[in-house]
Amino acid sequence: MNTIAVIILAAIIFDVVIHIVADILNLKMLQEKLPKPFQGVYDADQYRKSQDYLRVNTRFGWITGVINLVAILLFWFQGGFPAVDNWVRSFGNGPVLTGLMYIGTLMFFYALLSQPFSIYATFVIEERFGFNKTTWKTYMLDLLKGLVLAILLGAPLLAGILAFFEYAGSHAWLYCWAIIVLYMLVVQYIAPTWIMPLFNKFKPLEEGDLKTAILSCAKSIQFPLKRVYTMDGSKRSRKSNAFFTGFGKNKRIVLFDTLIQQHTVPELVAVLAHEMGHYKKKHILQGILLGILQTGFMLYLLSFMISYQGLFDAFYMSRVSIYAGLIFFGMLFAPLDFFIGILMQIRSRSNEYQADRFSVKTTRNPGAMIDALKKLSVHNLSNLLPHPFYVFLNYSHPPVLKRIQAIDSISVIE
Ligand SMILES: [Zn+2]
Repeated sequence: MNTIAVIILAAIIFDVVIHIVADILNLKMLQEKLPKPFQGVYDADQYRKSQDYLRVNTRFGWITGVINLVAILLFWFQGGFPAVDNWVRSFGNGPVLTGLMYIGTLMFFYALLSQPFSIYATFVIEERFGFNKTTWKTYMLDLLKGLVLAILLGAPLLAGILAFFEYAGSHAWLYCWAIIVLYMLVVQYIAPTWIMPLFNKFKPLEEGDLKTAILSCAKSIQFPLKRVYTMDGSKRSRKSNAFFTGFGKNKRIVLFDTLIQQHTVPELVAVLAHEMGHYKKKHILQGILLGILQTGFMLYLLSFMISYQGLFDAFYMSRVSIYAGLIFFGMLFAPLDFFIGILMQIRSRSNEYQADRFSVKTTRNPGAMIDALKKLSVHNLSNLLPHPFYVFLNYSHPPVLKRIQAIDSISVIE
């Protein structure tokens, strides 16, 4: 085993172990006593159910993680990477097509491996806790549409990247960066109109109190909102959510039908003011720019490593190729990605506080935001008391009690 193999192996094992440690700490935090702000909102049974939900999901995560780990290690040390390489090369195609086949084959196997887990999570765990509404038909159609999209959208981009690194010389990473950024922007722009409707039905929000309240809130903060949609989230799950999508003229706010059913108009306005807060505080723009920088950084490093012999030796590959280099570099980059991910989560959690603050300052109704957060947590069986280390590793949003605390400390009188 060479140094690179040792680094990658250590990183893969470290990742599994650190998440299990965080999980154990997280489970140890569970206590019977209901936190004070939730008294009267959660009944004892429901609260116990939320803890069971966490336990079941955690244990399931361990099983999935360990099986994945074993599968990757077996594939790696049994010479899976060169075996697939020999097979795709046997067709005698050029480097780009061979590369598409190589990466496509590995992704196909990986997706196949993850299917039983995904099916179990949806039809056994989510079902048991009363969330699942996905039918087998929806599930299979989602899978099929996902596959077609991956081929239609992913394959041309991947072909472009392979071709640049194959033929464009030392500036290839720059060209790749440019096309990836362009691609990301175009996909985000067309997603609300072309991609998301493939999976869900979007309807403009009906005229009425809710729409009037949302539009007047948007107007009060000069938010250029023309489109508010509802989405049939109930097609797959009872869980509820709201989100912001697209940009420029194409931006819109989407409310799950499940959200509208459970909340009052002031609560929904508070939730949407929060979403608009993300926009007003430039979190969306920030996210896009950081994504662009991260992509550039990765491609720059990739350009040094993609043909490095040691990287190929680590995976028992006798022949160097751009396409396998992409995969191996991805594995080598994982530890760095881990730290970048943690920084991104820190940023995201701080943005959530800002958006909450924005919402409360806008609606001048902290009670509505707090009630909305409480209802969302109860409805989605969220863990009320996650361990700080678990939050540090995994949470993109601060724990609900921290958010409530922060909102309580905001003064709405200017
Ligand atoms: Zn948010």
